[in-house]
Amino acid sequence: MDCLFCKIIEKKIPSKIVYEDNRMLAFEDINPQAPIHILIIPKKHISTVLEIAPADNELVGSMLQAANNIARDKGVADRGFRLVFNCNREAGQEVFHIHLHLFAGRQMHWPPG
Ligand code: 5GP
Ligand code: ZN
Repeated sequence: MDCLFCKIIEKKIPSKIVYEDNRMLAFEDINPQAPIHILIIPKKHISTVLEIAPADNELVGSMLQAANNIARDKGVADRGFRLVFNCNREAGQEVFHIHLHLFAGRQMHWPPG
């Protein structure tokens, strides 16, 4: 399987890692859309959020816990931050290995683009 984010997990492609444990990796986005833009991904390959199975619920919940911890560590938890999963074409999903975007460090707009 030719998956960019699996290669990042395997360290075949370098990334700026901000958190890692046995189930997930968090790293800086290569093309940041905010002063803080981090991607949180499971080490298990799941192509879209539609493929999240009930057995993955704890894993995905842990990704949210990691996002909270990163926001706290970066000092933006109280100011605010945004978490996004894009799914399929109209949402703009480009990498088909689920990733939770964490955006922070500027005023976010609503509705999102
Ligand atoms: P999507 O559009 O699929 O929700 O988000 C994919 C994200 O992955 C984009 O924000 C893009 O900048 C980021 N990205 C794509 N290739 C790389 C890469 O090689 N390294 C890193 N760190 N981020 C990447
Ligand atoms: Zn993958």
